[in-house]
Amino acid sequence: MLKKELGIKINENLNANQRKQLTELLSRNRNVFAKDITELGKTSYHYHRIDTGNAPPVQSMPYRQTPQMRQETEKHIDIMLKNDIIEESNSPWSSPIVLVRKKKSNMDAKQEKFVHNYSKIVTPLTQLTQKNKKYIWTQDCQAAFETLKHSLVSAPILVFPDFEKPFVLSVDASDYAIGYVLGQLNPNTKLEHVVAYGGRSLNKNEQKWHINEKEGLALKEGIKHFNPYLASHKFTVYTDNITVRWIDTIKNIQGRLGRWALELQGYDFEIMHRPGKKNNADALSRREYEKIGPEYFPQNEIEQTVAAMSNKKYEIITFDYKGDDEQQPNILTITDTGNEDDETLENIDPEQFKKRKTFRHLQRHCPDFVEIFSYKLEGQVPQERQKARQLDAKAFHYEIDNGILYHFFNARSRSLPKGQNMVKQLAIPRTLRKEVLEAFHDNIVGCHQGEERTYEAVRQRYYWPNMYTDIKTYIKTCEICQRSKRDTHSHPVPLKPMPIEEVFSRWHMDILELPETPEKYRYLLLVVDSGSKWCEAFPMRTQEATEVASILFREIIARFGAPRCIVSDQGANFLSKLVAALCELLQIKRHYTSAYHPQTNAACERMNSFIVQSLRAQLEKQTDWPNYIAPIMMAYRMTPATQSTQYSPFHLLFGQEMRAPIDVALIPKSTLPKNHREYLNKFIKDLLLTRDVAAENTKRAQAKYKTQHDKRAVKPTYLPGDKVMLFCKKVKKGQSPKLKVRWTGPFTITNLGPPDCNTFKLRRDSDNKISKKLVNASRLKVFNSKTDRPDYLLDDNDDLFEEDEDDEG
Ligand SMILES: [Zn+2]
Repeated sequence: MLKKELGIKINENLNANQRKQLTELLSRNRNVFAKDITELGKTSYHYHRIDTGNAPPVQSMPYRQTPQMRQETEKHIDIMLKNDIIEESNSPWSSPIVLVRKKKSNMDAKQEKFVHNYSKIVTPLTQLTQKNKKYIWTQDCQAAFETLKHSLVSAPILVFPDFEKPFVLSVDASDYAIGYVLGQLNPNTKLEHVVAYGGRSLNKNEQKWHINEKEGLALKEGIKHFNPYLASHKFTVYTDNITVRWIDTIKNIQGRLGRWALELQGYDFEIMHRPGKKNNADALSRREYEKIGPEYFPQNEIEQTVAAMSNKKYEIITFDYKGDDEQQPNILTITDTGNEDDETLENIDPEQFKKRKTFRHLQRHCPDFVEIFSYKLEGQVPQERQKARQLDAKAFHYEIDNGILYHFFNARSRSLPKGQNMVKQLAIPRTLRKEVLEAFHDNIVGCHQGEERTYEAVRQRYYWPNMYTDIKTYIKTCEICQRSKRDTHSHPVPLKPMPIEEVFSRWHMDILELPETPEKYRYLLLVVDSGSKWCEAFPMRTQEATEVASILFREIIARFGAPRCIVSDQGANFLSKLVAALCELLQIKRHYTSAYHPQTNAACERMNSFIVQSLRAQLEKQTDWPNYIAPIMMAYRMTPATQSTQYSPFHLLFGQEMRAPIDVALIPKSTLPKNHREYLNKFIKDLLLTRDVAAENTKRAQAKYKTQHDKRAVKPTYLPGDKVMLFCKKVKKGQSPKLKVRWTGPFTITNLGPPDCNTFKLRRDSDNKISKKLVNASRLKVFNSKTDRPDYLLDDNDDLFEEDEDDEG
């Protein structure tokens, strides 16, 4: 009867009474069931509307079919027409029919497969919903739709999780999707029962990732997805990816996998290799995975090598940066965070230990990082969905290493291969930002560099939200800069493209005349390497060729090797004398060098103007200038050359960033000691690449500069009440006009001059004196007050270091 009619089998385990009840229930509701397509019928209880808005109708041509397929199609259409399931239509909207072969039912195989495939199946469908993409229902879409429909109606039965039993997570990735299945092993049957499925298709970016990273993503998202099941239990992960198997054993990996490994540190799991899913995969693809693995994580090998090395004891002299009271704040010190080996407890200065905790404390409690910490450490997200999503996206750029928060930023992404361009920045809490800015701008090494240079130097090491804006505001409102710098509206020194050379092959030379010092120094010899922008500067008593030659030999050639050429604007006469003097020093009898006289000496000119500006900003007594050369050189060498190579000269020579004094204090010592040969190989590879990229960047910058150079500056006009600085032309006797601080003020505009004259009357803020004459706008520039800075850059935070350290772990 009913059972036969519908093809139903009733579970044998039910007793007679239960079977009877079930049969009755089914009979009463016979109309709910269709024995085949003839009984499907239709309802008028509900009409489904699809709002197509103003979209033009989607209409596509039928797909090409084989005669057999067409026959099959006709047959199905016929049956559906006959049974009122479909009807004929004249609608301009139309989509062709796609035949999908029904899968043979094989429950065991499907159980594990189904949701693995879910995301893969729906990728063509989700792509339709992407923004700015034309909605085109393709054959793939139709196939995906049919497969999905079929899969949904034949889904295997899920089991309820049993928290007494261990969970098993299987993860998988394909080109377009990741999937993860949470299951449990039935100890009796040894079969895996599925508790839940998850997965998603990869976005465009992710699709380009390496398969290892995709698998890693599947692992990370799978664990996060099933967090409620997995957080408090030990579980097993199955993957067919070799690299992912390692993820829990590797520390200090750079890049995404490294960050994920850290994110997953709180979970207790074991990763097992399961070749099962791809057991028919050929041997070749297997081997390929294995080959990729070790290359991808050389650190692992280094770690092991290092661990195997004997534990020798060394005496270490540590340089702790302690500035004097005024200029350089006394900063808390982190000497070492990771490597317990060379730092036994009794060796740690208790003061330092306390301070180290304090840095973590400040970071943990900085309002800018509180959310990141609680998300990364406890998985807590804000209530609001949008905010939670934003936080998740933001957290991706952060990593907690040894309890300290870092931020990653992708530098120079255009020319560098993936993974080479990650800068690990220490996250600076609000309370320390002022000190970082002072260290990189105000103090003797900061040299009052401009905003671009300051920003570049800081971001190679440090991060905080809105750092760029803060730096911009900070420098815009720096009084010393406003007094000494060239008007921002005037044009910078023009650059003419110079050929790009290998490091130390072409030196640019220039001589600057400065006020005579008590030691009778009157000149400064500037030498800049064209390739790396490495600079040297030497005070001189004369500007004779012999003195220059002697310095070049001693300080440049002996140290960096013989240059292929020296560029200078000293004149042919001077240069031939210089070459003669050098040949004598080097004991060269014959030479074929001819004096080289170029039209431009841009590298040196820029260096010149930088030095003069820095000296101007720093100098109190002008005859002090030789004392400032070293810090200015240091600043120049450690700051990325934004207008050319994008790297600091130091980086181009030594393959890493220079440590600034504040870095010694703030940045933990690298936790990864390096095997010498490994280090050297990587170093050379990186360095060559870095220099290539630098040359590329220089080329691009030169091209860009040419186009920018034509732009004209806009002249500002002022209104009463505006704060301005006044340019002074007069120079006192005995002072160098080059080194004179040029701008005085601030002043307030009180009156406007006659119309169209662009002149103004001023009141000096310090004594309220009113200017006698009208002043032309060309001598004025806007004054920016320090009060424009954000609060945390204004306050004196001296007492912060005494803050209690209660909740540190
Ligand atoms: Zn400044």
